[in-house]
Amino acid sequence: MTDRPDHLRFAAPLAGRAWRLGTKLAARAQAGLTVVRERRASVGAAPSRGVAFAGTVWTGGDAEPTPGVVVVDGGGRVVEVRLGPRETLPRDLLVLGGEHHWVVPGIVDAHVHLGFDPRADPDRPDSPISGPASGLVAVRDLGAPMRWTQQWRTGHRPIPAHRPFVAGAGPVLTAPGGYPSQSWGADGYAEFVESPARARSAVQQLASEGVDLIKVALQDGGSSRNPWPVLAPDVLRAVVDAAHALGLGVTAHALSAEYVARALDAGVDEFAHTPTERLDPELISRIADSGTAVVSTLQTFFSAGTGRTAADNAADLVAAGVVLRYGTDLGNAGTGPGVDPRELDRIADTGLGRLGALRAATQASAEAIGMRRRFGRIEAGQDAALVLLPFSPLAEPGVWRTPAAVFLGGRLTVRQADNSGVAAPRAVRENPSG
Ligand SMILES: [Zn+2]
Repeated sequence: MTDRPDHLRFAAPLAGRAWRLGTKLAARAQAGLTVVRERRASVGAAPSRGVAFAGTVWTGGDAEPTPGVVVVDGGGRVVEVRLGPRETLPRDLLVLGGEHHWVVPGIVDAHVHLGFDPRADPDRPDSPISGPASGLVAVRDLGAPMRWTQQWRTGHRPIPAHRPFVAGAGPVLTAPGGYPSQSWGADGYAEFVESPARARSAVQQLASEGVDLIKVALQDGGSSRNPWPVLAPDVLRAVVDAAHALGLGVTAHALSAEYVARALDAGVDEFAHTPTERLDPELISRIADSGTAVVSTLQTFFSAGTGRTAADNAADLVAAGVVLRYGTDLGNAGTGPGVDPRELDRIADTGLGRLGALRAATQASAEAIGMRRRFGRIEAGQDAALVLLPFSPLAEPGVWRTPAAVFLGGRLTVRQADNSGVAAPRAVRENPSG
């Protein structure tokens, strides 16, 4: 069978046995399944009859993690989620997983810059993009030259091999000479709008070129003598109104109280970062009352030295009921491609806990503006975008560095055995309350 690589034929009975045998044997059997180096991962079409993922199943949202099986058909669709006793394990399908494994929705990163992903070559339509092997099933690029965004964004097409689903904002709209055109975004990452009329035409142009959302930047930065220009309130308002008229949402880069307030006045839909200037309770309430969501990007701020204040703001925002989404700001200080377990724990520390952080990184991020497909849940009838983890992500978020298998875009990626690195599952603390 050409659609079923050798290691899968081998993996099936192993996983089935792992499910039924005692803990010690199960752990040994799983050690042969789980593992370790991305370059040894093997990607293939889904087995024609389908595949079943067994373990503790967390279907996302408000669901509780429960032992069970998720069955995906040969077309890549979730056909059944069986929660409950072990004897429901299907006998006629390839089965991956075991009693220590977790089956969860893939992670969605709501803030990346693929221009800084070493694998994403904008001049090669078939170039890979980092993510899928680590369990990252969808990303939203918040700032790139338009030609690159057109190359990367998925739109309504099938998700290509070796890529996550990609949504994109194209270039960042900013004042002439404004952020980020005089720093990291000097090379086509920013587009200038100097008047309400120009704002409207710029948004219409971006929409016609296919962007999934609009990004605006409000940052004066620079030096006190030569501050960067910032979008005036009437120009910002024109951007938001034009975007909304075309059905596009607007996310705002605004790190200070002054520009957070300006963005709220204009009616933006989301903040692309947790602000790094301490926000007073009144402004926190305004964000909550407006229903404006916030993308975390906390870890990169810790790497840059402004993390503590951002984390305090994030905790206040969460306490006020603001939706926090998972975003790494890939390309900035301390970031790297793939799922970042540190960002998950920064989100957990806001008061959401580790399960809440997973919710933020799955359903909440999947519902971000511009994400036009359904990710973030495991639901019968939906295309599968899920991950098999070798042990509990609540006990140790670092498990995201070594998923056992990922299913995305009708393709199954299984990491091959390599016994050199991963701790045996039995050594892991099982503490779902973490
Ligand atoms: Zn960014």
